Amino acid sequence: MLTDNFGRRFYYLRLSITDVCNFSCSYCLPDGYQCDQPRDFMSLQEITRVTKAFGQLGTEKIRITGGEPALRKDLPDIIAVCKQTPGIKKVAITSNGFKLPTHLPQWLDAGIDAINISIDSLDPRQFHSITGHDKLDTILKGIDMALASGKTTVKVNAVLMREYSGYDIKSYLDWLKDTPVTLRFIELMQTGDNLEFFNAQHVSGARIKQNLILDGWQPVIRDRSAGPAQEFYHPDYLGKIGLIMPYSSDFCDSCNRLRVSASGKLHLCLFSDQGLSLREQLQQDDIAPLKDRILSFLGDKKATHFLHDKLTGGTKHLAMLGG
Ligand code: SAM
Ligand code: SF4
Repeated sequence: MLTDNFGRRFYYLRLSITDVCNFSCSYCLPDGYQCDQPRDFMSLQEITRVTKAFGQLGTEKIRITGGEPALRKDLPDIIAVCKQTPGIKKVAITSNGFKLPTHLPQWLDAGIDAINISIDSLDPRQFHSITGHDKLDTILKGIDMALASGKTTVKVNAVLMREYSGYDIKSYLDWLKDTPVTLRFIELMQTGDNLEFFNAQHVSGARIKQNLILDGWQPVIRDRSAGPAQEFYHPDYLGKIGLIMPYSSDFCDSCNRLRVSASGKLHLCLFSDQGLSLREQLQQDDIAPLKDRILSFLGDKKATHFLHDKLTGGTKHLAMLGG
């Protein structure tokens, strides 16, 4: 089992399969994707070995992420590989959903269990202005299809930004009355590239949490491979609400996840200084050396990130690693 020096166990792997993205979200890639180094992403065979190693080390859940994972043509094969890996009970994806209605049937056939889609505003014009793309209607149609399939859960990620959050929260709540998705508000995180935007737009989720509790929302019990959101339900709503608050003091205490970048580097934290290369060990069928290498790195995992000190490690933007 993957356990660090602080007794934390790692049931959850976030697997990035590309850092390329077609959107230009204002907090992530405001100038769009810039190709500043040769692309050398893990092949399907290398991904198969990574998932096998983590599955044998006790990982139960894999989230496929990016960049935009749906830009990889072999995504359905990657989902299928994760799903067939012994030990893996749940395969999830985080996507901007730009072609969700078209992609969904293939993802479902491959065995996806959970889909997270990023929707930073339910107002089409604001959505366009944040992401650079007029795709809100397509994405919402894809979400309806996913729900109707009955084969996958759907969560929606919305980054909290000072400029939008005030009036958008009401529209999200209206939507959640009749829509059985879990909406997670994510506090905007500082990264190497977004300091000015962060200073202008960061807001805490604490007030939203307080208001939800006052309005009768009640906490959902977390399972051991769950993500970092504190989730709430309400008897009058089909949907749930979660808050991801990386700036809260105990955020890292419940860390249960590790990350592998698209180029095959292990990241012990979203904000670590660098990735630790697994590439050499990914070239052989025998995964024992790969497991040994992963285990040998784990002792270096720090107790917390250093975001409070404005230290963002080597993370220029979250498209590099998938959030
Ligand atoms: N492209 C996919 C998407 O947008 O869903 C997957 C990758 S994206 C990096 C994963 C998640 O990170 C998205 O929900 C996105 O909104 C979030 N994210 C990106 N940059 C962020 C930041 N600086 N602070 C908080 N969340 C961020
Ligand atoms: Fe692309 Fe996701 Fe970053 Fe938006 S948040 S630019 S969709 S990687």
